[in-house]
Amino acid sequence: MNVRLLPSNCHDPTLLQSLTTFLIDGWLAIDGGSLGFGLSPSRQIGVHEVIVTHSHSDHCASLPIFIAEVFPFLNAPVTIHGTKPVVRSLRENLFNGSIWPDFTSIPLLNGSGPSLQFLEFKPGCAFQLRNLRITPVETNHVVPTVGLAIEDDHSGVVFTSDTYCTEAIWHLANSLVRLDAIFAEASYPNREAKLAEASKHLTPSLLETELKKMDGRGTVYAVHIKPQFREEVVRELSALTTRRVAVAEIDHDYFW
Ligand SMILES: [Zn+2]
Ligand SMILES: [Zn+2]
Repeated sequence: MNVRLLPSNCHDPTLLQSLTTFLIDGWLAIDGGSLGFGLSPSRQIGVHEVIVTHSHSDHCASLPIFIAEVFPFLNAPVTIHGTKPVVRSLRENLFNGSIWPDFTSIPLLNGSGPSLQFLEFKPGCAFQLRNLRITPVETNHVVPTVGLAIEDDHSGVVFTSDTYCTEAIWHLANSLVRLDAIFAEASYPNREAKLAEASKHLTPSLLETELKKMDGRGTVYAVHIKPQFREEVVRELSALTTRRVAVAEIDHDYFW
C-alpha cells in the first residue's frame, strides 16, 4: 500500500500541515482538506473515491476545487463516502448551490449519470473499495468522526483522524492481522491540554497514554500538528519514553 500525506501549506509545504488529505494508492483519498490544493491536476484525475472522516473544514475544504478540476475528464462519478451526518453536512453546507454547485445534479460530460455521488457507511461496518478493506470506527471529537483501518493483502494502516481520548480505534488496530503503521493525531503541545480537551484533540502526552491501549506493532506517525505549535509538539514527541513516535513526512511516499 502506498500512503502519501498531501501538502497543505504554501509557505512551507513539506513541514506545515494545516489541512488533511492522505492519498492511498493514487486513487483513494482519505479526507479532502488539501486534495484540490496539494495534488497536481493531472494526478487529481486519478482519484475516484474520497472517504471524509468528518465535516470539519480542514478535512473537506478543497473538495469543491477537486471536483471542478476533474469534472471535464470524468466518465464515471466521483464517490464521496461518509457517515450519514457527514454526508448531510457536505450536501447542506458545501455542495448546496451557493458555496458550490451541487455536482450530484450535474451530468457527466463523457457518460451518463451524475458527476458526483455520496455513499453512506456505518461506523463498525467494514466495506470494500477495489482491493482495499476499509473499517471505520467512531472516535471522540466535537462532531461525528470516524477513524479508519485500511487493509490490502499485504499491509494494514490505521488513521485516527481527529480525536481526544478514545477506545474503538485502538481495539480495531489490535485486531488487525497486519499492522504496519498508525497515523495518529497530535495537534497541540502539552501546555495546551485544556484547549486540546475543549476541541477534542490530542497532545503528545495524551497520545502516549492512548498508545498504551495498543499492542506494540506498527510505526506510529504523528500528524495534524498545528503549524503554530509545530516545533514544540515535535520536541515533546521526541521526548516520549514509552513508545517512539515519528513525525509523518509531508509529501512523502510510504510503502508497505
Ligand atoms: Zn476536526
Ligand atoms: Zn482536523
